[in-house]
Amino acid sequence: MPKSKPCLLEVSWVGKCDKPSTNGWCSKHENLKCCSCGAKATQDCDHGSSLICGAPLCETCQHSLDGDRHVTGAVYKEQTDKRKQEEVAVEQSRKSLEQRFNGEGIPSNLFELFKKDPKEQGYRLDKVFFLQLTHGLMAFYPAVIDAEKRVIACLDRSLLIEVWKTLEPRDSKMGSMICYVNMQKGVAYPNADEQYGQERSKPEKILTRNEYEEIRKKTPHAITWAPGLIGGQYFEPALFQAYVDRMATRCL
Ligand SMILES: [Zn+2]
Ligand SMILES: [Zn+2]
Ligand SMILES: [Zn+2]
Repeated sequence: MPKSKPCLLEVSWVGKCDKPSTNGWCSKHENLKCCSCGAKATQDCDHGSSLICGAPLCETCQHSLDGDRHVTGAVYKEQTDKRKQEEVAVEQSRKSLEQRFNGEGIPSNLFELFKKDPKEQGYRLDKVFFLQLTHGLMAFYPAVIDAEKRVIACLDRSLLIEVWKTLEPRDSKMGSMICYVNMQKGVAYPNADEQYGQERSKPEKILTRNEYEEIRKKTPHAITWAPGLIGGQYFEPALFQAYVDRMATRCL
């Protein structure tokens, strides 16, 4: 009889699986594939704090730094490099009076916007509405345009209620934020008093009715809840319409 070997799969926060096997991988883990590249999985993803991701990964793939997906080691390195460059740029810009712009030609964050008078740049304070799942966790699960991971942010409450009724019928609510809004550019920066918050306040795109009609024509199910929250309350579709109407009257 061949000698038994303990399974090598690395379970997050626990250590090696250690179940007996003949080849170093127990029956549960023997054919497990990396969810990112399809190679043999050697560990499960330890990303998360109160909820652990737990997806199977090979030795090099990682939990993506932007979004909920998993990426190869090379893509992950690009993401960390980009993040470091951004940190350096943020720090250098503190000493400069010049505004720093993002790829779309608008100030990179609220701190950059504030280097000049917001009004003169076409920005005014306004209330921006968004949707999010209701749950007991310290996490934000908003409605998003899935492919872009863009939060659905709206000045028009009635438009947002329409969007809401097309989403998966789950326990959810409408929230609002005070933002610096420029409708010509179609963006909003969440307001923040402290420099730390201002540097992290990135421009969000505003959803308008025209854009919503376009999206509905092209990809009817593009707007969804942010993935990752399992559980929570679901409604019968017919009841959900009434639920949204009731919740909407309560919102701010
Ligand atoms: Zn195992
Ligand atoms: Zn992999
Ligand atoms: Zn993960």
